[in-house]
Amino acid sequence: MADLERQTMPEQAPEIRRHNFSEVALGYTPAQAEAEARRCLNCKNAPCMQGCPVSVRIPAFIACIARGDYAAAYETVTATNALPAVCGRVCPQERQCEARCVRGIKGKSVAIGALERFAADQHAEEETAAPAGNKNGKKIAVVGSGPSGLTAAGDLVRLGYDVTVYEAFHTAGGVLMYGIPEFRLPKAIVQKEIRRLRALGVHIETNVIVGKTLTVDELLTEMGCDAVYIGTGAGLPSFLGVEGEDLKGVCSANEFLTRINLMKAYRFPEYDTPVYCGKNVAVFGGGNVAMDAARSALRLGAEHVYILYRRGREELPARAEEVVHAEQEGVEFRFLCAPTRFLGDENGWLTGVELQDMILGEPDGSGRRRPVSVEGSEHVLPIDTAIVAIGQSPNPLIRKTTEGLETNRRGCIVADELGATTKPFVYAGGDAVTGAATVILAMGAGKTAAGAIHTALTEAETHG
Ligand code: FAD
Ligand code: SF4
Ligand code: SF4
Repeated sequence: MADLERQTMPEQAPEIRRHNFSEVALGYTPAQAEAEARRCLNCKNAPCMQGCPVSVRIPAFIACIARGDYAAAYETVTATNALPAVCGRVCPQERQCEARCVRGIKGKSVAIGALERFAADQHAEEETAAPAGNKNGKKIAVVGSGPSGLTAAGDLVRLGYDVTVYEAFHTAGGVLMYGIPEFRLPKAIVQKEIRRLRALGVHIETNVIVGKTLTVDELLTEMGCDAVYIGTGAGLPSFLGVEGEDLKGVCSANEFLTRINLMKAYRFPEYDTPVYCGKNVAVFGGGNVAMDAARSALRLGAEHVYILYRRGREELPARAEEVVHAEQEGVEFRFLCAPTRFLGDENGWLTGVELQDMILGEPDGSGRRRPVSVEGSEHVLPIDTAIVAIGQSPNPLIRKTTEGLETNRRGCIVADELGATTKPFVYAGGDAVTGAATVILAMGAGKTAAGAIHTALTEAETHG
């Protein structure tokens, strides 16, 4: 008889982890993983799979764990998911696969994400993938090495294409490397998954900015590529647009987290890049990015870290788990308030923020209740650091340098449900198309587009 209690993920204690950058969630032990796997009912129609954008064969891989065959579990997961250790850690499982799990109707769903992470973590590096065979002689360029580009690249290389990924940064991985902090997603884990893709045959060229170093049109003509997949993400931060935002001590979450993650600023001066973080830090926003920035600021030694959000707790877009973790670590939440201006001293350093209370009005276009400011409620919160985490949009470089590539008014590339853009043989997906979203949606888009590219090139060959 299977144990019906969902296994609890072991974690570092909050009072310890708030002082270090090591991973918070420690992963299941083999005994826990097998016990959790035995909770799966191996449902014939597998409703959980309908919630997975990359179609992981969930009951099949869980059955492998239940019988202790971890290698087979890994093979089953990686047949459709190029980044299982990543997804097992940061996928919003509670809204994806686990939301559809039959076990969840009367109790707690099977911990699919934690089991996927377990299968990936058990896999030893030496057993890495053999190169994909059957080359078909066609070349594909993938622009951007985030989860979307890497997924498209992995699927296309398996289909026999010669695939090169061009990445602007010096390290591949996109937000997985520069955005999500080490304590949620260790960078060694991301790099291990990328090494597996390289072993499969994916070429990755870093320090290449498409739109500057070379263009999409050059890839299609001079470089002889048969198709291009654009997965350049949404890396352009939005700002509040209030007075004083140019004061010293105010920065975007994007810059703050990139310095910490990609440039290892939390290990300065061992690493060259510094990061400024004072004692009283306000983070503006309520998504995963805001939680990551706030929790990073705590780890850099801040005494008070506030999350200032203009809506209420119910409306926080961040994953519930991240909010709980942030609270446990001591992040202070202040809801229903918005900044009206930043205040500074005579040397241009930030000293405080003026806030205005909000109430929630009627729902807006997004379905969430619109915050309305309360006149006369202005008050000042003394802070020395402000981190703005209110959203990102795609960088305009590709749009500006690619003739015939349509974008919408938010700067996102226009693509159909298969990822085809308005330019022949150019496909796109992930945050570059949707705006800031999730890892698994970006991966799903990469997978769909890889299939569509294969169909289009096969048809083009058949018809002449
Ligand atoms: P990205 O990951 O942004 O990758 C795009 C890549 O393209 C980058 O490496 C960029 O350098 C490169 N690039 C851009 N322009 C060019 C160019 N012109 N030439 C060459 N290369 C270029 N999602 C979750 O599901 N769970 C989470 O917990 C979560 N937490 C997050 C925390 C933070 C701090 C952030 C910022 C995002 C988080 N997200 C989370 C969102 C998720 O990371 C993104 O939705 C996802 O990474 C999008 O993938 P992508 O491949 O479309 O783009
Ligand atoms: Fe669930 Fe994400 Fe894994 Fe799919 S990839 S099974 S959605 S955790
Ligand atoms: Fe197992 Fe839940 Fe999927 Fe059923 S729905 S196969 S119980 S994970």
